[in-house]
Parts: sequence; structure tokens; C-alpha cells
Amino acid sequence: MNDTLIESYLAENFHISKEVIDFVEKSEAKISDRMAHWNRLAEYHQFKVIQAMQKVGLSDRHFHPTTGYGYDDEGREATEKIFADVFGCEAALVRPQITCGTHAISLCLYGVLRPGDELLSISGDPYDTVRTFIGAKGEEKGKGTLTDLGVIFNQIELMADGIFDTEKIMNAISEKTKMVYIQRSTGYSWRKAITLSEIQRICTAIKAKWPKVVIFVDNCYGEFLDEKEPVAVGADLMAGSLIKNPGGGLAPTGGYTAGRADLVQLCANRLAAPGIGGETGATLGITRTFLQGFFQAPYIVSQAMKTAILVGAVYKNLGYPVCPDVDDYRSDIIQSIRLGDPKAVEVFCQAVQKAAPVDSFVTPVPWDMPGYDVPVIMAAGAFIQGSSIELSADAPMREPYIVYFQGGLTHAHGKLGLMLSLQQLVDAGFVKPEKLHALD
Ligand SMILES: *Cc1c(COP(=O)(O)O)cnc(C)c1O
Repeated sequence: MNDTLIESYLAENFHISKEVIDFVEKSEAKISDRMAHWNRLAEYHQFKVIQAMQKVGLSDRHFHPTTGYGYDDEGREATEKIFADVFGCEAALVRPQITCGTHAISLCLYGVLRPGDELLSISGDPYDTVRTFIGAKGEEKGKGTLTDLGVIFNQIELMADGIFDTEKIMNAISEKTKMVYIQRSTGYSWRKAITLSEIQRICTAIKAKWPKVVIFVDNCYGEFLDEKEPVAVGADLMAGSLIKNPGGGLAPTGGYTAGRADLVQLCANRLAAPGIGGETGATLGITRTFLQGFFQAPYIVSQAMKTAILVGAVYKNLGYPVCPDVDDYRSDIIQSIRLGDPKAVEVFCQAVQKAAPVDSFVTPVPWDMPGYDVPVIMAAGAFIQGSSIELSADAPMREPYIVYFQGGLTHAHGKLGLMLSLQQLVDAGFVKPEKLHALD
């Protein structure tokens, strides 16, 4: 392939300069060795997914739509077996009726916790929308938050760098503690995602003393990033969104919970009703797409990881603080960049939007999203509304003005978003043109 052809194409069609392209290419050349790891990991998970599909005898009949109650939906049952198998769990609930990640997490919490039980977060603040339904921000009474129902919520901060504060945690757990809550991914914070080995370490410590405590993991953005998932290393239950990693960019909606069979049953009871549990839920023909998405998810996640690492490398080379650092172990697909300026955050997100296949003509602006307490800007020119396994960038508009970048179904799309973000930061005066020669 002729490099000058790409250069002139990008210059003509996207107004990206040769300096920006060179800077990104040089940054990528320096990290090429890191990419091999993600190729290998994607292969391993691909083999596991295929094996799980073969084990249930996946066949065309599993893709037929069901309607009404959806009793005896073979495709739904096969899908849940496949997810459970690949994730190393006894059972899984994988449904289009789970509307988002927050809903999946809420099924686990409302399903398991009872009045008077303590919910103890050991990874600091849960994700904004989760804090809202917990009632952790002192929400108005009478809305049906967990604290409204008599659940007691407490939290322990992480120590620096995504490490659990073991001593505080062990001192805090008591007879009242029904559930320990872990958020694997960074969410909107400046910290590294929690590693699987760290999750394993704390699960072992907690279970040794408190075997009955249910350890829950918010696994959003974490799927397929390590050899195993949290339940396979000692957690009891986890949840995630199908418009993130495990949907592979194809699932048009949905979420999952997975873990111990008795706990997944409680989630199903909450989703439908006790006595009905997971036995109903028409799939309306979505099963093929769920499974095809899950089939390609390991590869898609590897593409997103390559983009995340490259974005981190480029902005680090320009002198911005980035989290995680280029060489860090990664446990979610997010790359955070501390731009330090609200206008720069807007320019960055608007540039990512301009690289999108869908809605590229739209200009994202900060808005008051449900469940968040400051305006949030979101760039997402996605085929699936709000999908963040597709190329996306977002930021809550607050100090110190960090932008969170994630996704990209193909690495080439990720690169285009990256090059446009850099070009527009140069054009807007946030990045001095001389900086683009730093790697010469
Ligand atoms: C995305 C996400 C959620 C749930 O978000 P939804 O927008 O409801 O899907 C929860 N926790 C984390 C860490 C997330 O990244």
C-alpha cells in the first residue's frame, strides 16, 4: 500500500496533515510489540467461544424467533449456556429485556439484597448511575432506591493504583454485610482498572473469613481482557452490558448477569417475578445477533485495545498525563487523557464524532444526562445508539477535565478518530505544531 495515497486521501477528505499522520505512525511503530499480546489473547478467547458453541450443538433452529411468553426458547437457553461456559460461571441471564448495564447491575443488587442488609463497595464510588439507584448521593426518599428500601450502603476507597485496602475491608465486613461490591473498570475516575489477580486476592481473603458474603463485580468494559473473568477467580456474581465488549458491536441492546446459579436465579426473579424467573422472555429473533456478536467479541475487543494503547501513546508523547500508562496492564478498554481544559475536551469529542460512520455531521455538546450530576459530553457516531464498544469519547464536565476514550470496531476507524482529535487540537491551538516533531 502506497503511504502517499493514504496521506493525500486523508488530507483531501479529512483535512489531516502529514505531520499528524507521521506522529501517529511513529507512535504506533514504537509500541508494535505490545500488540502481539492482544492478538494472542483474542485467539484464545475465540477458541473458547467456538468450543462453547459446539458444546451446546448450536444450530440454525436456535436462531428462530419466539414471541409471547417465550417459553422453551431453545436459542435463549443455548445463549445463556454459552455465556456461562465462556465466562466460567454456573449460570447466566442474557436478555434483550435487560435495557443497559445499569439495569443488569440493579438486577443483581435488588435481587440479592434485603432490608437491613449492608452493601459494601470496596472500590470507592460506584459508577454514577449505580450510585443513583443505590441512593448513595442522598437522593429524594420514596423513589425506590436501595437505601429507600432499607439497604445500608457503605464504601471503602481504593488505595492508589487500583489496589484494595485489605485491612480496612476486613475490619469493615460484619454479620450485616450481605454483598461486597467491586467495580472493575475505572468509570469516570482517574485510576487504573482493577486487575483480575487483585480481584482474586481480595476474594480469597474475604471468603476465608466470610464465606457467605456475596462478592459482586461490575464487569462493564472488562470482558475478554484477561484469560478469565471475575467469577472464575472467586467472585460470586457479575454483570455487564451487551452494547459494550460482549456484544461484539452487533448486539442492538441487552445485558447479562452471570455467576452462581442460585444468585442468577434471584436476578431472574427480579427481572420477571418470583415463580417465573428466567422461564419467560421472548427473544423476537435477536438470538442470532447476540451469538454472532459474542462470536466476534474477542476480536473486536482486541481492536479496541490496540486503539486505546495507541491513543495513550500518542497523547503521552505530546506530554499529556494518560491513564493507564502505555505499558500498564489493562483491565478495561478505557484510555483516559487529562486534557485539563473544558474547551479541549469539547474539541476532542467533537473530532471523534467527525470520524464516525453515523451522525458525523452532528456536534456533541455537554448535556444533563439522566443519572449523572454534572453535564456530560458524549461523542458516539454509532450504529447502535450509545454503544461504547464502537468508537466513542466522553467526559463529565468537571475538573480536571479528563476525556475517556474507548472502543472502535476496527483499528483503522480508531486511528481516524485519533488523528482527527489531534488535528483539531492543533487547529484550535491546544497542541503546538512544534510538538508534532517531538519524535523526529
Ligand atoms: C457503562 C458502565 C455501566 C453501566 O452503564 P449503562 O450506560 O447503564 O450501560 C456501569 N459501570 C461501568 C463501569 C460502566 O462502564
